[in-house]
Amino acid sequence: MLEIAVKNNARFLLTSTSECYGDPLEHPQTESYWGNVNPVGLRSCYDESKRYAEAITMAYHRVHGLRTNIARIFNTYGPRMALNDGRVVPAFIDQALHGSPLSVFGTGSQTRSFCFVSDLVEGLLRLSESDERYPVNLGNPVEMTILEFAKEIQSRFGDDIKIDYKPLPSDDPKVRQPDISKAKRVLGWEPKVALHEGLGVTIDYFRNRVGGRKPQRTEPRPDQQPGSLAG
Ligand code: UDP
Repeated sequence: MLEIAVKNNARFLLTSTSECYGDPLEHPQTESYWGNVNPVGLRSCYDESKRYAEAITMAYHRVHGLRTNIARIFNTYGPRMALNDGRVVPAFIDQALHGSPLSVFGTGSQTRSFCFVSDLVEGLLRLSESDERYPVNLGNPVEMTILEFAKEIQSRFGDDIKIDYKPLPSDDPKVRQPDISKAKRVLGWEPKVALHEGLGVTIDYFRNRVGGRKPQRTEPRPDQQPGSLAG
């Protein structure tokens, strides 16, 4: 792709990932943090290939003067995900629609920060128009534990939806939250869609496709307003 971009004098936007930070020792993650990646772990093919992609993208910029941008995308969700891709948002929605228990891995104390797809797309478009060559984090900084996320799903679909604790996959990052100061400064960008809103749209999408149980509640619980997670 980089060769094609050079030949055609094109722009090149790399959609990199927060996985570059691995199981981070710095929290929240800033772009200047180099990460904590196990090079031979279960997730390493993904982490290291993305880190290599960043390296080769910068090399093409430096050697060929290619106009490149690098977005480090944090957990993103929304309509048109595959229900069975294994990620936590479609997995829990699929389970809840079928009245099945929610598969929480480990104790559910690991954290993630979920960005709605339309916010992410806006960030990518702004980045692709910018002159910023170094990586920029794109994600929603509102952080929650996976157990809190499961409870949000339960509170929408009914408390009879149980939680089924399963083993934590190896090298599962314990925390993940983007520091988006750079995106705010360089792109004038920050997410606008709150989780309760984006989740509603996403649940409607999946329900229209596969049917299933109707959510009973669409408003966030008072204790689950954005940013309610201490720290
Ligand atoms: N997870 C979970 N149950 C699932 C799928 C995922 O508890 O059915 C957890 C997973 O262990 C991780 C978090 O949810 O801590 C986010 O997982 P996902 O695969 O969506 O994204 P990533 O691990 O890349 O952040």
